[in-house]
Amino acid sequence: MMGQMMDQPLLVSGILEFAARHHGASEIVSRRVEGDIHRYTYRDCEARARRLASALQGLGVAMGDRVATLAWNGYRHMELYYAVSGSGAVLHTINPRLHPEQIAYIINHAEGRYLFFDLSFLPAIEAMARHCKTVKGFVALCGRAAMPADGAIPGLMCYEDLLESGDPGYAWPQFDERCAAALCYTSGTTGNPKGALYSHRSTVLHAYASAMPNGLNVSARDTVLPVVPMFHVNAWGLPYSVPLSGAKLVFPGPALDGKSLYELFEAEGVTFSAGVPTVWLGLINHVMQHGLRFSTFRRTVIGGSACPPAMMDTLIDELDVEVVHAWGMTEMSPLGTACTLLGRHAALPPAQQRAVLRKQGHAIYGVDMKIVDDDGSELPWDGATYGHLLVKGPWVVSGYFRGEGGDILQDGWFPTGDVATIDPDGYLMITDRSKDVIKSGGEWIGSIDLENIAMSHPAVLQAACIGVAHPKWDERPLLVVVKRPGAALAREELLGFFEGKVAKWWIPDDVVFTDALPVGGTGKIQKNKLREAYQGHRLPTA
Ligand code: ADP
Repeated sequence: MMGQMMDQPLLVSGILEFAARHHGASEIVSRRVEGDIHRYTYRDCEARARRLASALQGLGVAMGDRVATLAWNGYRHMELYYAVSGSGAVLHTINPRLHPEQIAYIINHAEGRYLFFDLSFLPAIEAMARHCKTVKGFVALCGRAAMPADGAIPGLMCYEDLLESGDPGYAWPQFDERCAAALCYTSGTTGNPKGALYSHRSTVLHAYASAMPNGLNVSARDTVLPVVPMFHVNAWGLPYSVPLSGAKLVFPGPALDGKSLYELFEAEGVTFSAGVPTVWLGLINHVMQHGLRFSTFRRTVIGGSACPPAMMDTLIDELDVEVVHAWGMTEMSPLGTACTLLGRHAALPPAQQRAVLRKQGHAIYGVDMKIVDDDGSELPWDGATYGHLLVKGPWVVSGYFRGEGGDILQDGWFPTGDVATIDPDGYLMITDRSKDVIKSGGEWIGSIDLENIAMSHPAVLQAACIGVAHPKWDERPLLVVVKRPGAALAREELLGFFEGKVAKWWIPDDVVFTDALPVGGTGKIQKNKLREAYQGHRLPTA
């Protein structure tokens, strides 16, 4: 017997429609590329998104067509999120920090029809426009007054003019919730980037589940500033989960330095934010150096790479900001786990609570996970045994766009490429990416642990640990360190700092000091670049 509930498809447009109707006066505030602050409401946003959807139809954009964006976090990008997907086309967000050749590869691979871009990227677009074979038109995200003079891009269109050409009476179409809504390519640290193609259903379910208290915990009382970019994994779904919750939304545009972020946090009363550790580094340094404090900011999600314990301690103990450590990936929309305490953890002493919070956390409803050995046999959840991490769920990819990589699932599970432990309470802890694990004498050494210890030394700003060839042990750990400005630190002192904190054979064999670590398009340290740079490094133990 079938249920008798309304069969209403879970469509992305429904989220903004809900926000406009039930939280219509909540604001969306954006720092624009032009430098000024723009503000309007969900009601305004939805009306403009509908009009834009109609204008896209006028351009001939059909169901399933890919429409690409190269843009910062801002209200026009938000309008594209809803206009493109809501009209049945596929929003293809592109990371502008990728190499121009990679960007052109991605656009061609996705067969993008139109490309919308922020003016900051005009030179890049001019350079690559003729390589984008499938693109019929380019649209600059600005009003007529800011339009660039006739240049290298033939037929360049103006966003505001285009939007105005749309019909304000356009109604969101209804279609199968399994249709594609958005496309995002992994950064492809190895091989070509591969596309994760999200559906309307997966996007809505992910937004729903991730907003819940055990996840990001977003409510109508919050003012949310996503530092995570809308050009990578849909800013962790916040452009969907925030309107769904009715919260105020604040977009930082291109100004992601500590000072600009701090000023926006204070001016708009931001309560909640999300970003990768490298972004928090800049904000925390600015706040600490100038003796500032946050007046409304109370909670942040940190993920994308491991949150260093020292960073978590500063945020919680010095700045009174709760930290939710989260784990996920492009292929998972991206949220898989978030770290919040269980009721019974309340009785634990603060240090033990903190030890729980350092983990990547508990699966959110909808995601299942397991760890397996090399043969695929499931390993115990004892918090000590580590293995390959596999996941499944309605917002996990079943394959890559256009079949890249072939059949990727293992018995219906997606192999994440991460190595992890799971404890008896179900808390996940990432040991490493499998390609970053250091293999010493047939045993594994997790680089994240070693980096976390190094970064808890007061003279260390950033640290990365990589495996370097060793004649006896195959590989041994080398620590690459950026010192805090003005700090003095010798190799021996830092190595001594590891004594008693890890097994003796885990202690790195050597330390090199450098001015900066290579950071990729998604704000993560590029270990492959470091391995290349230090592959000839001669360890003193070799
Ligand atoms: P990429 O495009 O680099 O694949 P993703 O954003 O999809 O980017 O990265 C996903 C990977 O990032 C995960 O597989 C994991 O290795 C790493 N990661 C994400 N969050 C965390 C975290 N909290 N701790 C440790 N590693 C993390």
